[in-house]
Amino acid sequence: MTASTPRWRRVLLKLSGEALGGRKEYGFDFQVVSVIAEQVARVHQLGVEVALVVGGGNIFRGRHAEEGGFDRATGDYMGMLATVINALALQEGLEKVGLHARTMTAIQMPQVAEPYIRRRGIRHLEKGRVIILAGGSGNPYFTTDTTAALRAVELEAEVVLKATKVDGIYSADPLQEPTAERFQRLDYLEVLNRGIEVMDNTALTLCMDNGVPIIVFDLLQAGNLERVIRGENIGTFVGAPGARVEQSPAATTGGH
Ligand code: UDP
Repeated sequence: MTASTPRWRRVLLKLSGEALGGRKEYGFDFQVVSVIAEQVARVHQLGVEVALVVGGGNIFRGRHAEEGGFDRATGDYMGMLATVINALALQEGLEKVGLHARTMTAIQMPQVAEPYIRRRGIRHLEKGRVIILAGGSGNPYFTTDTTAALRAVELEAEVVLKATKVDGIYSADPLQEPTAERFQRLDYLEVLNRGIEVMDNTALTLCMDNGVPIIVFDLLQAGNLERVIRGENIGTFVGAPGARVEQSPAATTGGH
């Protein structure tokens, strides 16, 4: 493999709603959407097929409804609808940089976007379109991290790229603990057993059972998506046993 050969050919990029929000507490930062779109365009030029799963936490999370004494399932549907708003913003951003993008929703709303149909999603990817998978899994009590794992498995993506605000998983919160060190690699079970907050357990287990590795990295650092795709050692790689663990105490991503 040369330096210019992508290590991964089909990837599932998970973007949280918070990532789209940038520094804003609510809603999205259009500048951030453009930065993300440019990074996706660069890896697309390398011939990499990109499927995106987008969260909704910058707008609404199901547990907000519960905190307010509302029904959890209704809140979760509100959260799933929030992901569609984000997906449409991303679709615009991607098209502005010349990509062909298709939003596919797990909850049908044909006036807004296509329904998610697995074989159709694969076809879009093969034709060089970027797909944005919105509406979560379509089921309450799940997260968009679990959706990312599920879609990665069914679309036969080789890796889940989990974008966070910090550049990997640390031995402690790097914002509070300057001596915290970044793990380069971790086993799935290590992450599960230590309760490292990288993805929820359902998502992690799904990846583990189906042998899909996860790379946690900072997407907002210019060029990082391309570096990950080229196999550069940035972020933290979570995969099958054999991964070397550099640190021991309770670890954290420092927020995700
Ligand atoms: N959600 C859901 N089922 C799914 C995916 C998401 O019910 O399959 C709801 C859930 O309420 C969640 C919200 O949508 O809180 C937004 O998704 P998430 O919190 O995963 O977004 P992120 O943290 O990635 O921004």
